[in-house]
Amino acid sequence: MYIGGEWTPAAGGRRMEVICPADGVVVAVVPEADREDVQLAVAAARAAFDADDWSSHLNAHARARLLRQVSAAIREDVDRLAELESLSSGKPIMETSVIDIHLAADCFEYYADLAAHIGGRQVPLAQQALDFTLREPLGVIGMIVPFNFPLLLAAFKVAPALAAGNTVVLKPSEYTPVTALELAKVCERLGLPAGVFNVVTGYGKTAGEALATHDAVDKISFTGSSATGRRIMELAARTLKKITLELGGKGPNIVFADCDLTQAVSGVLTGAFMNQGEVCIAGTRILVERAVWDDFMTAFLERTAKLKIGHPLAWDTNVGSLISRQQLEKVEYFVNRGIEQGGRLLCGGKRPDSAELAGGFFYEPTVFVDVSPDADICQEEIFGPVVVVLPFAGEEEAAALANRSQYGLAGGVWTTDIKKGLRMARRLKLGTVWVNNYNLLRVEAPFGGFRQSGMGRELGVEALLDYTQVKNVYVELEDEILYLYE
Ligand code: NAD
Repeated sequence: MYIGGEWTPAAGGRRMEVICPADGVVVAVVPEADREDVQLAVAAARAAFDADDWSSHLNAHARARLLRQVSAAIREDVDRLAELESLSSGKPIMETSVIDIHLAADCFEYYADLAAHIGGRQVPLAQQALDFTLREPLGVIGMIVPFNFPLLLAAFKVAPALAAGNTVVLKPSEYTPVTALELAKVCERLGLPAGVFNVVTGYGKTAGEALATHDAVDKISFTGSSATGRRIMELAARTLKKITLELGGKGPNIVFADCDLTQAVSGVLTGAFMNQGEVCIAGTRILVERAVWDDFMTAFLERTAKLKIGHPLAWDTNVGSLISRQQLEKVEYFVNRGIEQGGRLLCGGKRPDSAELAGGFFYEPTVFVDVSPDADICQEEIFGPVVVVLPFAGEEEAAALANRSQYGLAGGVWTTDIKKGLRMARRLKLGTVWVNNYNLLRVEAPFGGFRQSGMGRELGVEALLDYTQVKNVYVELEDEILYLYE
């Protein structure tokens, strides 16, 4: 692990294996952190913050320079980082090398550009005084991230937090800790001051909970399931920590009859099966206007059948391995539940027959129809390649179906009528609405959830501000002041 600028084993001496879920090969062995290791990491981050030579506004340009160098170092190493990411997460190399690692580099570059521009505002007061606000860093940020976009989701948090002058303790997922450690190597090589960026590798129940309850941690920034998010909120409440929660979703992807059908099918397919459905924003509730149902379904099922399930390192793989046996069993549970509740399977619904894939946690892209909007597979996040397709007639019904969810993360609308697209964008209770696109994240645009999909925002100026606190400064300009007590 990387604590206070040193590479260290776990205090308790324990280690854990990182396994490639596609074939069971051991990718790495890393320390298994416990409470004691988290204490050390938080103490290092606290000392680095309090020393003020990282966090002071006087050092904004120095922080920007370092973050720009981190971005360049990631970009120079895309191939190797993508391979490590795919090996430990099971996700296709095409995704990690074309999207994840580049977007992580973009993120460091973007916040480097903003680091020296974090200003407050002048507050107009009706008296002889100067009043203004400062945006100051919060302090030590504990970060807990999931397995599905390991380096990318860490970058979404680490880059804005460091740009604003905070110090960081990052706990990656126990399944995918490798690229977080690679990021630490980059920070060490570039000379980030000791303690500014720390990585502890361990399990959620132990290392994660130690971070969420530590009284010297000022904020917890968490990405993961809504169930864990709820637990983190409870734990963080004990010391009234600030929190950002990026949680689950059940994205509606709405296809209107007047859409460009070829584009819509590509977008729906990507929304449904990218990263074998292990995507928080996955478009798993596909709503199709009745007038275009037959044409859409024919094209969608034809394209789904062509998706190649394979080893994450094969360049022609579209659908990789799920992260674990537990995740595979969860997918199987929901598919059985879907059938029990009257759903009709149009494809998939099983593990692939191929002997080549028998050693991994693969599952076929699965499409359900004839499902009640209140059935479990229509309401619960499955986190696998399983979608439901529901018919609708008109905007009213589309919006009602789309909004019938505890979640509110992201969704899509496919139409060539821009006014309709904008009307729908207003009506959908989601943190992100794409019109004629899906799954697209840009570092400049804020991202986060409505409802039980979370609170706070990542990316954009919004995330940077979420890692600051507002100080108000009042400067008296009156010569004669009337005091209450003279
Ligand atoms: P998870 O909640 O099981 O684990 C996420 C992280 O939390 C891991 O690092 C884990 O070790 C840690 N953790 C687990 N229990 C903990 C506890 N009691 N205290 C502290 N930390 C704990 O989620 P996962 O299975 O790794 O990821 C999948 C989930 O993440 C899905 O629900 C998905 O929608 C969500 N997700 C959300 C976003 C978003 O931006 N909204 C992005 C990606 C994934």
